[in-house]
Amino acid sequence: MGVDATTMVAASERVLARLVEHFDVDFSYLRHTDRERRATVLIAEWPHRGDIPDPDPLKVVHFETADSVFAELEHATEPIVVRPSVESADYQETIRRSSGIPLVAMAAVPLLSRGESTGVLGFIKQGDRDWSTRELNVLKAIAALFAQLQARVVAEERLRYIALHDDLTGLANRRALLEHMEERLHSGSPGPVAAFFLDLDRLKALNDFLGHTAGDNFIRTLSSRLRENLDPNDMIARLGGDEFVIVPAKPMDAVAAELEATRIQQLIGRRVTVGGESVSRGASVGVAVGIPGETTVADVLRRADHALLSAKAGGGNGVAVFTDAMRAQFELQDDVELNLRGAVSDGSLLLHYQPEVDLRTGRIVALEALVRWMHPTRGLLPPGAFVSVAEATNLAGELGRWVIRSACAQFAEWRRRGLATNVVMRINVSPVQLVSLDFVERIEDILRLFGIDGSSVCLEITEHVVVQDLARTQVTLRGLKRMGVQIAIDDFGTGYSSLSHLKALPVDAVKIDRGFVQRLGASTDDLAIVKSIIGLAGSFGLGVVGEGVETPVAARTLVGLGCYRAQGFLIARPMPADEVEPHLVLGRIPLDLDLPRAGRGTPKY
Ligand code: C2E
Ligand code: CA
Ligand code: CA
Repeated sequence: MGVDATTMVAASERVLARLVEHFDVDFSYLRHTDRERRATVLIAEWPHRGDIPDPDPLKVVHFETADSVFAELEHATEPIVVRPSVESADYQETIRRSSGIPLVAMAAVPLLSRGESTGVLGFIKQGDRDWSTRELNVLKAIAALFAQLQARVVAEERLRYIALHDDLTGLANRRALLEHMEERLHSGSPGPVAAFFLDLDRLKALNDFLGHTAGDNFIRTLSSRLRENLDPNDMIARLGGDEFVIVPAKPMDAVAAELEATRIQQLIGRRVTVGGESVSRGASVGVAVGIPGETTVADVLRRADHALLSAKAGGGNGVAVFTDAMRAQFELQDDVELNLRGAVSDGSLLLHYQPEVDLRTGRIVALEALVRWMHPTRGLLPPGAFVSVAEATNLAGELGRWVIRSACAQFAEWRRRGLATNVVMRINVSPVQLVSLDFVERIEDILRLFGIDGSSVCLEITEHVVVQDLARTQVTLRGLKRMGVQIAIDDFGTGYSSLSHLKALPVDAVKIDRGFVQRLGASTDDLAIVKSIIGLAGSFGLGVVGEGVETPVAARTLVGLGCYRAQGFLIARPMPADEVEPHLVLGRIPLDLDLPRAGRGTPKY
C-alpha cells in the first residue's frame, strides 16, 4: 500500500472508527511523537470532535507542559490505563476542556519502533471502563501495525523532504520549485504568476575575505529573513550558490510584482552579522510574470533570469522587470545560438575593414577587421549581436579562427597585388581564444600558410581579459611576441588595467575607448582622461590610437595631445574589402582638419 501523510490520516480514521465500535468507546485517537520538538502530535481521531478551538490544544502537546498522563506517554512502552480518580485530575481536566466530556476512562497504547515509543493509540470512554489483558494485547498488536505504517510515512516524508529541500538553508530546492511552478502555471490556476530571480551581489568577495563558513551563515541568515518576512505560502527556493527564486503565492501583475520585488530586495540589503562582522550585500532581482496555461515554467524562469542579468548589468543592487525589449534581444540570442554554427561554415559571415590613419597626413597605417553576419532573415548583424552569444556558447573559438583566417587571406591577397604593404592588419580576439592552449600555434600556422610576417598583424584584446588570468595571458602573449605579432589593448580606459599590468605584459599599443574620444571638445572630464591615457602610454613607450573619432574637434584635440593615430567615422566607416581597395591604392584618406602648423610633423609611428 502506498502511504503518505494524507492517505495515512484517512486510513487511520477508518481503523479508528472500527475500533471505536468494536470496543464500545466514545473517542479514539492516533498521535505521533515528535522527538525533536519533544511533543506529541495528533494524526487522526475518530469521531471528529465538534467545536475544535483554534488553535486546537490537542494538536501539538509539548511533553514538558503536558498533564501527567500525556507526559508519561513520552517514554511509555506499556499501555497506560486511566480511570476516573483523584490522581488523574489534571488529565480529566484536559479532556473536559477539549472535548467537554467530564469524567473518562482511558487506555493509551504506545506505538513502538525498535523498542522506543513513536506515538500512541488512545481510547476514551465517558464514565468508567476497565480493559482486560486480552483487549490490551489486541490493542498492542494494532498499535504495532500503526507503528510500522507511521515509520514508513516518516521515512517517506524524510526522503521527500531531502529530495525537495536545500541542505544549507532548508528552503525548497530546484526540483521543488519546478514542481510548484508547474502547478501554478497549469491552465486554470489563478494568475498572473510572478517569479523573482534573486542573486546576491559580490558574495564571492565575502567568501574570500571572511571564509566559507561565514558565507554559509550569511546565506542562512538571509534565508530565514526571507522566510520570516514573506507570506508563508510563497515559494522560496535556493538554487545553489547565492541564487534564489521566489514565487509569491498571490497572483500579481508586473507592476505589483516589481513593488514586491523591491521590498524583498531592500529586505536582503539589510545588514547581517557573520563571523563577528556586520556585513551587507546588495541583491539584484529579475522579475518575470507568467500566465497559467500560456507561459511555460522554463519561459518564466528564463525571462526572470534574463531580467536579472539586466539588473546586474545596470550596476547591481536593483530590480529589473522582463520587458518586450528584452524579449526581442532574447529571441535574437536564441536565433543566434541556433544559426551561428552554420554561419561559420556556410559563408554568411563577412569582414568589414575600417582604416586607421595618421591624422597629420591621412596615410593609412592599419586596417581593423570587424566581423559581420549576413543573417538569413535579420539582415546584416553587427558583432554586438552575436559575438557575446558565441562566447557564451562555445562558438567563440570557431568564430575567432574564421576571422583570423579570413582577415589573413584577404591581407595576403592585397599584398600579392602590392597593396597594404605598410599597413598593419588588426584583428579582435575573444577572451576565450586567448586561454585556449593551442592559440599561439594556430596563429603561427595561419601566418605561415599565407606568408604573412607576424609584425604586420596586431591582435586586439580587451582589458578585462588581461586582468582575469594574468599568468595564462602572459604565456600566450609571450608566445605571440616571439613571432613578432603585435598586441594592442582595446577599449582602453573602460576596464581595470593598472600600470603594473601594462608593465607585466608585452603590449605594443593601447586604443583609447571611443566613449572618451567621441566627446572630446564637449566634455572636459573626457579630455582629462584622454590626456592621462596618452601620458601613460608615452611613459611606458606604448603606441596609442584614438578610436571613435567622429568630429574634427576630436581629431584636432588628439593631435594636440600627441596622439596621431586614429580611427573613426570622421575618417572612414568600416567597409567591405572591395570598398577599402581604392583607399589602399591611394594609400591615404585625405582629411581636412585645419591643423595648426605645429601639428604637422614627421609621422612618429
Ligand atoms: P571595437 O574593437 O572597439 O571596434 C570598433 C567598433 O567601433 C566597431 O564597431 C566600429 O564600427 C565602431 N566605430 C568605429 N568608428 C566609430 C566612430 O567614429 N563612432 C562610433 N560610434 N563607432 C565607431 P563594430 O564593428 O560594431 O564592433 C563592435 C565590437 O565588436 C568591436 O569593438 C569588437 O570588440 C567586437 N568585434 C568586432 N569584430 C570582432 C571579431 O572579429 N572578433 C571578436 N572577438 N570581436 C569582434
Ligand atoms: Ca578593436
Ligand atoms: Ca575599441
